[in-house]
Amino acid sequence: PHCSGGEYVVMLPFMAHGHLIPFLALANQIHRSTTFTVFIATTKLNVHYLRSAVPSASDVRFIELPFSGANHGLPPNVENTENLPLTKIVHLFHASSSLEPPCRSFLSRVVEERGRPPLCIVSDVFLGWAVDVAKSFGTVNVTFSTGGAYGTAAYVSLWLNLPHRKTDSDEFSLPGFPERCRFHLTQLHPFLRAADGTDAWSRFFQPQISLSLQSYAWLCNTVEEIELAGVEIFRNYLNLPVWCVGPLLPQAALSNSSSGQSISRHRVGKESDISTENCLDWLESQEPRSVLYICFGSQNTIGASQMMELAIGLERSEKPFVWVIRPPVGFDLRGEFLPEWLPEKFEERMREKNKGLLVRNWAPQLDILSHRSTGAFLSHCGWNSVMESLSQGVPIVAWPIAAEQAYNSKMLVEEMGVCMELTRGAQSANIAAERVREVIGRAMDGGGEGAEMRRRAEEVKLQIRAAMREEGEQKGSALKAMDDFVASLIANRDQVLK
Ligand code: UDP
Repeated sequence: PHCSGGEYVVMLPFMAHGHLIPFLALANQIHRSTTFTVFIATTKLNVHYLRSAVPSASDVRFIELPFSGANHGLPPNVENTENLPLTKIVHLFHASSSLEPPCRSFLSRVVEERGRPPLCIVSDVFLGWAVDVAKSFGTVNVTFSTGGAYGTAAYVSLWLNLPHRKTDSDEFSLPGFPERCRFHLTQLHPFLRAADGTDAWSRFFQPQISLSLQSYAWLCNTVEEIELAGVEIFRNYLNLPVWCVGPLLPQAALSNSSSGQSISRHRVGKESDISTENCLDWLESQEPRSVLYICFGSQNTIGASQMMELAIGLERSEKPFVWVIRPPVGFDLRGEFLPEWLPEKFEERMREKNKGLLVRNWAPQLDILSHRSTGAFLSHCGWNSVMESLSQGVPIVAWPIAAEQAYNSKMLVEEMGVCMELTRGAQSANIAAERVREVIGRAMDGGGEGAEMRRRAEEVKLQIRAAMREEGEQKGSALKAMDDFVASLIANRDQVLK
């Protein structure tokens, strides 16, 4: 019904790996269900990165926006959060607003060429200025939050209700959340705990998020059925329409048949010391559901002493594992991994006993998660990792570190029942080897809590897959949400034109 040739949509992602990839996946999904032209506008280096992540036949068009981070104190050639220390990431956030003028120039050109404004601008929650841009070009802005509903709602509410300080208790309630969802000060990243509206982080997040609340609607990378409570909280808090268009995952990750091809996403520029084949061969040598996969996302790592405790605990647990290791906090993430960060001869022992595989820097995550030997995922709970794990029915042991990860973990434990939390924070994480052994044991053993988590994860997996169902009478909820979203935009525009 929405196949009018000249319609187009413009997308503005924030410049971080975990945002660019879901934007690209959403662009593809919009194009697949509407045949509209979709433009993604971002900086040159990020366009380059996205281009190399898409098959050449993709219909998404990329627009390079000139960007000079140097004006905001960024080193040359830095255009996304990759390998940036926290102190510099805040500059990148502030610098992102400088994309507004080139974005307006691009829109002037494209509106002129096409003789009409885009049907909407889909922008990142951190690029709230897009609301005004959309208005001045005669269209609407839709915010796309790349996280889940519960986690995003918590993050938004935390920033808009500062400060969060110790009173008589470390627990507090959060506007928008029912009383049963108490939050804890340890769930706040240090900069959020220190924020009071005057610091550099608040001065970026507060205005941009507030502007995003004036959008026409929000899109969320989740599945309505798996996060019922979270979606309700989110809708009530925003008081805007929210369409759940997830899971934004590669098609191959959602089917049962293996094509023999790697299904992991975006390896561009990521070096690993092991091939996907060797990784999968190693998994083949293990029992079904016996392996713990450990990874902290694309840009996080843990402290050196935490790493040591984790290694000792893992060895004591005697569970097989694949661990993506990177230099600890305070060291160059791309630098060499020094043996002294692990117990003496740890890697050799694990290799000899065929107990553990250490992967340096980057692993084929989706291939590992979809392998039948993988039994649980020790994860930082970045939302892409969460969706990837659950789409394969793999329960989670959480170690949230930054952003909204602690709220994802909270939701996974309290609402979804697919997770147990091991600890929180990077260098500050309170972790002892004995607790690692005990939690991993509980999560991976056949009975009790571990079995219940696995059972729930299996249910969630089916719900995720059903959301993308195309055949049969009933379309999956993700595809239906996309249809409703587009129909609403068209109805709104027709109304405005009347
Ligand atoms: N990833 C991967 N191999 C790695 C580390 C990460 O393939 O060794 C991918 C992972 O599959 C996911 C993304 O990188 O798609 C990480 O996104 P997430 O939202 O989980 O965390 P972030 O990197 O944004 O903290």
